[in-house]
Amino acid sequence: MTPSVLIVGGGPVGMTLASELTRYGVGVRIVDQAAQRTDKSKAMVLWSRTLELLDRGGTQGAASFVDAGFKVEGVTFVAGNEVVGRVAMDAIPSVHAYALAIPQSETERLLEERLVEQGLTVERSTQATSFTMGADGVEATLQRADGTQETVWADWLVGCDGAHSAVRHALDMPFAGETLLSDWFLADVHMTGYPRTDTDASIHWHSDGVLLIFPIQAGRYRIIGDLPYTDAKTAPVPTLEQVQALVDRRGPAGTTLFDPVWLSGFRINGRKVAAYRQGRAFLAGDAAHVHSPAGGQGMNTGMQDAVNLAWKLALVVHGRAEEALLDSYSSERSAVGDEVLKAAERLTSVATLKNPVAQGVRNAVGRLLLGLPSVSHGVADTMSEVAIHYANSPLNGPSAREGVRPGERVPPVAGQVPVGAGVAPQFALFAEPSAAIDDIVTEFGDLVEADVRPALHAGTISLVRPDGYLACSAAKPEAIAAYLARIATHADRAPVAKRAQHA
Ligand SMILES: Cc1cc2nc3c(=O)[nH]c(=O)nc-3n(C[C@H](O)[C@H](O)[C@H](O)COP(=O)(O)OP(=O)(O)OC[C@H]3O[C@@H](n4cnc5c(N)ncnc54)[C@H](O)[C@@H]3O)c2cc1C
Repeated sequence: MTPSVLIVGGGPVGMTLASELTRYGVGVRIVDQAAQRTDKSKAMVLWSRTLELLDRGGTQGAASFVDAGFKVEGVTFVAGNEVVGRVAMDAIPSVHAYALAIPQSETERLLEERLVEQGLTVERSTQATSFTMGADGVEATLQRADGTQETVWADWLVGCDGAHSAVRHALDMPFAGETLLSDWFLADVHMTGYPRTDTDASIHWHSDGVLLIFPIQAGRYRIIGDLPYTDAKTAPVPTLEQVQALVDRRGPAGTTLFDPVWLSGFRINGRKVAAYRQGRAFLAGDAAHVHSPAGGQGMNTGMQDAVNLAWKLALVVHGRAEEALLDSYSSERSAVGDEVLKAAERLTSVATLKNPVAQGVRNAVGRLLLGLPSVSHGVADTMSEVAIHYANSPLNGPSAREGVRPGERVPPVAGQVPVGAGVAPQFALFAEPSAAIDDIVTEFGDLVEADVRPALHAGTISLVRPDGYLACSAAKPEAIAAYLARIATHADRAPVAKRAQHA
């Protein structure tokens, strides 16, 4: 099959993209060099914003993920033996006000099940080995484990092929950044004696370094900590006894670790490409950005890259929007990538301070700030990614004086079909009924949902993008029509759109 879009990499980001594009009726092929999905727990959390976006697809929305996961309600910060503060997740302004602990292997299983429901298979044991970029598409060579080879042509190529991305190398995009000079360990273990409720994670700031304990399910935990740098080629894998000794020293007293599921060592890279698009090719997920696991943002940010790209690509592939729409993918998601990278660096350096004076200042300031509800809510909103916005997006249109600003998230409402769900990538109009609004729906029926939703503010018309961010808001319908005319393909438009376009 000649696909419109060839996705290289069937990890969480590639599968999210494949699912979104397939739902929107775009012909997709997705290949992965590995014979099987990962069986590792790697990314342990799905944050509120990712769950909101998963609600837009599949027959069950995010419910299948929630059922397979474990709700974490708070994060307690501890310095020595003293609790410094707690960030509560139930205050997150979301229909999913918690952190969902779920091993990456489970997230990938559920994403693959979603794809199977949609009739799409990840072509495994299939490596994309070379790419020739053309003005109107890309040719790729696929090498299968059985020795067969295929040359495939696709209108668009997306590299979701992880940190060592072959697509990124083919595009010759520098992956600028650095590797931190510290070793880290990761232990996925069972444990008794944890002094907090099982639904709370804890971050222990110790004079030796940091220790993070994150519940995976009742009695099972992910434990992460930093170690002095060794110049070994890779960070050493710890034994269970070594992890127990580190927990005894830096963490709560009286715990017993047993039955390890996964023990690993890793180093932290903070790297990112400058642009996520080059001609007919895009990068998403770890192919575009990697950072410290502090804050647990890597996979979630990548899955949201995929959601951002999918509706834009679908509109362009279906000929409903001008190709210029695709440029906003890089500017929006690269800005988010920069923010996530900076935040992860900050969190890591604060947690791993070695100077005793600086540690004392951190503990005192942490106690003061985390005691302020506005600060602790802000931390929860940032971690859960509901605070992500596109304030400087080239896609932002005019703004009414009240309410959400263009580029900001319009929170989904419990019981309402989320914007962007369904089989077409459509904007949603939130407005009071009027003949002018009906005209917009008629005129831009290929871009806008047929059903107008209740106004978000009296006297204001709000246009929400298929990924749930505000495109523009205005009192006058002409401003909304002009915005849509700017996005829409200009051929075959009815006269009202042509007028609005020149308004
Ligand atoms: C130890 C560890 C702990 C982590 N903890 C967290 C965490 O707590 N929270 C968090 O959000 N993130 C965490 N991460 C990061 C998270 O795992 C990644 O961000 C996530 O896997 C990125 O997904 P991806 O789909 O972009 O890339 P990947 O998961 O790397 O998937 C890329 C896929 O592409 C395939 N591929 C590569 N090259 C080719 C090719 N040429 N042809 C075909 N297929 C190819 C690979 O086989 C792979 O399946 C952790 C990672 C590690 C290693």
